Amino acid sequence: AADSGASADARLGTRPTPTQRSHASHKGSYGDVAIVGGAPGMTGAALLAASAALHAGAGRVLVDLLDGGSQSVDSTWPELMFRPVNSLVNQAMTVVCGCGGGDAVQAMLESVLSSDAPVVLDADALNSISKSTLFQTLLIQRSSRALTTVLTPHPLEAARLLNCTAQQIQANRLEAARQLKEKFQCVVVLKGSGSVIAAPGQTSVINPTGNAKLATAGTGDVLAGMLGAGLASGQPAFQAACDAVFRHGELADLWPDTTPLTASKLAAQAA
Ligand code: AMP
Ligand code: MG
Repeated sequence: AADSGASADARLGTRPTPTQRSHASHKGSYGDVAIVGGAPGMTGAALLAASAALHAGAGRVLVDLLDGGSQSVDSTWPELMFRPVNSLVNQAMTVVCGCGGGDAVQAMLESVLSSDAPVVLDADALNSISKSTLFQTLLIQRSSRALTTVLTPHPLEAARLLNCTAQQIQANRLEAARQLKEKFQCVVVLKGSGSVIAAPGQTSVINPTGNAKLATAGTGDVLAGMLGAGLASGQPAFQAACDAVFRHGELADLWPDTTPLTASKLAAQAA
């Protein structure tokens, strides 16, 4: 694959839209997503990812909050189920790990990275991986086991993963995404204006949608949830990443200029 080139044709999507659901399908047809995140004071991040996965069409969404509490229902989104991670990761589900995870996510990462599940790693999962050679080794081993892993760093998270500065990442975003995919042998979404999607054996894509309305708290968590739903529906990882990033940006492009976009409103549109 040519890493120097990039395609603007990001919309490869095959994920069934709500109207494309077949008559005889049931919730098991659309896959389960498990959200692992939400340390004390940051549970909203995990709930935003969970809500986005739900609205993007996942059959069931389970949440393992890392806040040490005992939340068993969310009154805004009662569809969500709350379960501890250890009962989740060995089942057939897609795991979205790290949103609002804080340092608490470190205790979960070994089992998440060792599981056979397709995994999306965001936020504090990525920060924890930057600091741990064990987690980096487990991450790289997933590719030799042919397991799906998608990293969704923003520029500062990418800089920590590559031991450089965010300025260096931004100076050549295509090259930074290439280095991340080579180093960790997985699908990479380097977020920001013109998100780059890169994967081993694929020509990198620069996403054409999105705007600065997305520059607000929680929108990255919404993307992680949307991506989880795409993987859970059975989309190949590179395609799921291109499709989720495209749609996430498109929702912001369609958003009226008269109302500020918030992550909750974005999540509710995530279909
Ligand atoms: P995070 O930094 O994790 O909260 O993620 C922010 C999300 O919003 C990512 O999907 C970014 O690509 C997107 N985003 C933020 N600012 C912009 C911008 N100026 N233009 C396009 N997308 C943006
Ligand atoms: Mg984020």
